[in-house]
Amino acid sequence: MSTETFLTIDDVKVDFKPGETILETAQRHGIHIPTLCHIQGLEATGACRVCVVEVKGARNLVASCAAPAAGGMEIYTRSPRVLQARKVYIELLLSSGHHYCATCESSGDCRLQDLAYEYQVESVRFPETPTRYPVEENDLILRDFSKCVMCGRCVQACNEIQVNQAISFGYRGVDSKIVTTGDFPYSNSDCVFCGECVQVCPVGALIARPSRFSGKPWEIKKVRTTCPYCGVGCQMDLYVKDNRVVKITGAEGSGPNHGSLCVKGRFGYDFIHDPDRLKMPLVRKDGVFHETSWDEALSLVAERFQAVKDGFGPDAIGVLSSARVTNEENYVAQKFARAAIGTNNIDHCARL
Ligand code: SF4
Ligand code: SF4
Ligand code: SF4
Repeated sequence: MSTETFLTIDDVKVDFKPGETILETAQRHGIHIPTLCHIQGLEATGACRVCVVEVKGARNLVASCAAPAAGGMEIYTRSPRVLQARKVYIELLLSSGHHYCATCESSGDCRLQDLAYEYQVESVRFPETPTRYPVEENDLILRDFSKCVMCGRCVQACNEIQVNQAISFGYRGVDSKIVTTGDFPYSNSDCVFCGECVQVCPVGALIARPSRFSGKPWEIKKVRTTCPYCGVGCQMDLYVKDNRVVKITGAEGSGPNHGSLCVKGRFGYDFIHDPDRLKMPLVRKDGVFHETSWDEALSLVAERFQAVKDGFGPDAIGVLSSARVTNEENYVAQKFARAAIGTNNIDHCARL
């Protein structure tokens, strides 16, 4: 075996694939290296430095997310130098804002909180950076700049995953901030409220506003389902508390959307518990709608269709299908038009 395709991690000899980073090689072999800013599949930014490792012969610790694996490397992921450096980086991240977990929406689902626990960071030696920007909120997204650790995940998600190009890094030094073009609020910018940035934010800096204070992670039951809004079939996780849907996120690691959603899928769920939601068919009698049974409603529709067909022929009837139903239901709709009614007048709202 050639040493060219092997390296050692914590004294264990492992293979690596050409083009792999140290982090990817370690992950493929089940070796844990903590990360915060890294998004799998996207260009590494090395912003948080939490994933540093020691490489024998290298003067400085290297960010494993950005360093290519090379033959013969001797890598140490948990040497005293590495552990000490990670603790300092976590302290710096904690001091970079106002991290008061007690009422933070992300507590229990926060990468920084997890890292502080894992590395037993019980106190922070650096002074807290004063909050320079007020909280910005609209109906859907809350931005708390006091908790932003400038990891850049939201920028990558917006620009590289959703390709919306709505946000970027702005200002410098202690004034650094994630900004929209012109530093306007989200609601007055190119933001389309897909919420991708909210989903990837590893801390409590970006919050789904409608879900705020509606339940802690350990009170939530997650239910995997398919988005009801269009035929793409995005997979989503419903966050259910007390039999109510309180939040929705895209299902990570599952096609076709791999965690992404659009504004409708992510935020358009208030209809589920709306008191005005129709739950029974309505039939108009003497100008007034009355709730009725499905049997009665369907019999009435069948009678009327038959009357139109008998009086004017099947082409007097047209069927308009919907993007809000599944492909299978659309198939059944055209079958109904062609086989049951006897007309080719079948169309779909997506052609409008
Ligand atoms: S963002 Fe994380 S570390 Fe900061 S207050 Fe919230 S839960 Fe705590
Ligand atoms: S909600 Fe979507 S479009 Fe708006 S900033 Fe976040 S990722 Fe970009
Ligand atoms: S808002 Fe969140 S994802 Fe964006 S840079 Fe700040 S901490 Fe990172």
